Amino acid sequence: MELKDEIRKLIGLQRIDKEIYQLNLEKNDKIPEKIKELKELIDQKQKDFASFKEKVNRLELDKKNKEGELAQKEENLKKAKSQLYQLKSNKEYQVKLNEISSIEADISCAEEEVIKFLDKAEQEKGKVANQKTSVDSEINKLKQEILALEKQEKEIEQKIKDLESKRNNYVGAVDEKVLSQYQDLLTKRNGLAIVPVTDNNCGACHMSLTHQNINEIKMYDRLVLCESCVRILYIPEDLEL
Ligand SMILES: [Zn+2]
Repeated sequence: MELKDEIRKLIGLQRIDKEIYQLNLEKNDKIPEKIKELKELIDQKQKDFASFKEKVNRLELDKKNKEGELAQKEENLKKAKSQLYQLKSNKEYQVKLNEISSIEADISCAEEEVIKFLDKAEQEKGKVANQKTSVDSEINKLKQEILALEKQEKEIEQKIKDLESKRNNYVGAVDEKVLSQYQDLLTKRNGLAIVPVTDNNCGACHMSLTHQNINEIKMYDRLVLCESCVRILYIPEDLEL
């Protein structure tokens, strides 16, 4: 086995593996994260709307209570008026008249209040209907986004499968020991196991390499690793790439 050739094969493999790594990142982290955010947003919108509706329902209840109070007052007035004709003394009559006018003043206040509540309740009910329409359409849009992301996930899955079968064709041709070192680094070094030397620097971490490092790489005795980021180094010009 000539190490130079093995390194060339690793470079080809790395090209595929880099792509697989990025796609996996997209599929396993980025897309699920986005979907989670969208679902939380939907949840929040539903909760906000429910609490707004709840507020309006309470207003409706208040309105009903006020109407009940008003009806009670009107009942009292009727009663007081009917009592008026049963009274014997002028003084009792006067007291009842005062009572009646006080109830009437009370009723007039209560009526104003009912009207106020009625207007407010109507307004808020209108708002609920409007908000429902807009919340529904917003949620619908968010759901569409989720569906699109899920579709994207499936497409990525397929792409990964295609790349993996392409990868299998490469793998068979690489020396077992070289391959196992490469695989090990690939997992430990975020999907990047082999990098070019550019201007005497490591292509990944940019550490500057010594003459000795460069000479060692050119000897093709063993795979030379960057001392800083621990990745296999190669010199593109030396491989006629
Ligand atoms: Zn490095």
